[in-house]
Amino acid sequence: MTREYRHEPFMDFSVPANKEAYEAGLKVINSKLGTEFPLVIGSEKITTDEKIVSINPANKEEVIGSVSKATQDHAEQAMQAALTAFESWKKWDPEHRANILFRAAAIIRRRKYEFSAMLTKEAGKPWKEADADTAEAIDFLEYYARQAIKLKAGQPVVSRDGEINKFSYIPLGVGIVISPFNFPFAIMAGTAAAAFVTGNTVLLKPANSTPIIAAMFVQVMEEAGLPAGVLNFVPGSGAEIGDYLVDHPKTRFVSFTGSREVGCRIYERAAKVHPGQIWLKRVIAEMGGKDTVVVDRDADLELAASSIVYSAFGFSGQKCSAGSRAVIHQDVYDEVLEKAVALTKTLTMGNPEEVGTYMGPVIDQASFNKIMKYIEIGKEEGRLMTGGEGDDSKGYFIQPTIFADVDEKARLMQEEIFGPVVAVCKARDFDHMMEIANNTEYGLTGALLSNNREHIERAREEFHVGNFYINRGCTGAIVGYQPFGGFNMSGTDSKAGGPDYLTLHMQAKTTSETL
Ligand code: NAD
Repeated sequence: MTREYRHEPFMDFSVPANKEAYEAGLKVINSKLGTEFPLVIGSEKITTDEKIVSINPANKEEVIGSVSKATQDHAEQAMQAALTAFESWKKWDPEHRANILFRAAAIIRRRKYEFSAMLTKEAGKPWKEADADTAEAIDFLEYYARQAIKLKAGQPVVSRDGEINKFSYIPLGVGIVISPFNFPFAIMAGTAAAAFVTGNTVLLKPANSTPIIAAMFVQVMEEAGLPAGVLNFVPGSGAEIGDYLVDHPKTRFVSFTGSREVGCRIYERAAKVHPGQIWLKRVIAEMGGKDTVVVDRDADLELAASSIVYSAFGFSGQKCSAGSRAVIHQDVYDEVLEKAVALTKTLTMGNPEEVGTYMGPVIDQASFNKIMKYIEIGKEEGRLMTGGEGDDSKGYFIQPTIFADVDEKARLMQEEIFGPVVAVCKARDFDHMMEIANNTEYGLTGALLSNNREHIERAREEFHVGNFYINRGCTGAIVGYQPFGGFNMSGTDSKAGGPDYLTLHMQAKTTSETL
């Protein structure tokens, strides 16, 4: 019997031993900079001439490492390897598959600081954010392993006299797992593990700015005993191998996490039935957000200000759950805004390798340029309260930025920026707040700060988001505690880390025997 699931605790870096362990992790990673990782296709490790080079977003000169770059031929080879491996992997006892996840979680836990340090170097995550990403990766492995064991029994159905009815789940086939840069460990590992613990085989295509942490995970899975061909590692161009694999007639499902633009493209392409294809592909698509922190008149105003600030600026606002808009009741608007601006001015920005840094860089030049463009738009649409400057001379740094008095329909209030920029909007009353909260095309997360019970209960029903939080910020969902996924253009609401998630990777079979 495995122990009951509990989420991995976060590290307290004021404890000297934890701080030293993190520094030791950074030392290990610094000593391995420049390592090259191959493609993994079946039992083969393939090194290509063309590479995807990963650089440190806090220091553009520093190369973290590189991975081989898959072509369409490699993608095809990986598909064949996955199809072959599926024939035996699908027959494994789910409990034996789950044991591999438990082992992988134990391996990562033992080398936790190394993984977190890699996230600091490769994704620019400050210590706390990196630690949370690693903890979440462990959580996904621990949680999905238990869920897979639970699902082994199927679901109860009724039998009449003289018959035995059973309802059970079987795997789907080969899945394409495509992951984003912003939770390069947790989301990559979680979406891949969910797909293979349920008996499917996988082609993993990580984000091109964070392939090294993915390569490290693939090594962990091999060490944990995952058979060859179950998890194939094919980093490459989204347009080149992404489209090829999404269109492939042998692809059974696609598990995508990333932007709305790419998610919609995948959803549309996957709908087309190609010659030789004998099923309708499943698509899990978890996409962007435009998430709102709503502050009611009688909220705890300190808590409101800190909820706005930490939801907006954690990991430089590069979370799909980031609170990139705040809606504040007119009676407390000035006070909350003032507190939020004051708190933002205390945030430390700089090298994420230093323990005290609250905010590091954004991921790359394209993100930097896009966010700076939104800051220019913000200057037209609102009142710049703090921040507004960027510096890409060494790394991609942008100050935490607040715009006040932004119209509810303005671009800053509607479009996902994916950077440290928050738009603040004034609301007349609670009805108006709910109206603004629901006025985007997204529906991922949202938070209400209020001490009014009637408003809390109303918002529980009316706030149309997949993850709704009361009297706290809108980021930081925990696997198994707050299953995660959004409504509307935020995606298929798959609820990663929740009790229904694994069945999205399986098909149900009914058997009925007459006695
Ligand atoms: P992105 O869409 O640019 O890239 C995601 C992945 O898709 C990458 O691996 C990329 O290489 C790949 N890709 C690109 N073109 C492709 C194609 N034509 N076919 C197949 N794959 C292709 O996203 P990103 O910048 O890495 O991540 C940020 C976005 O992800 C934000 O919009 C954020 O809100 C979203 N996100 C959502 C969730 C969620 O759970 N809803 C979680 C994290 C991030």
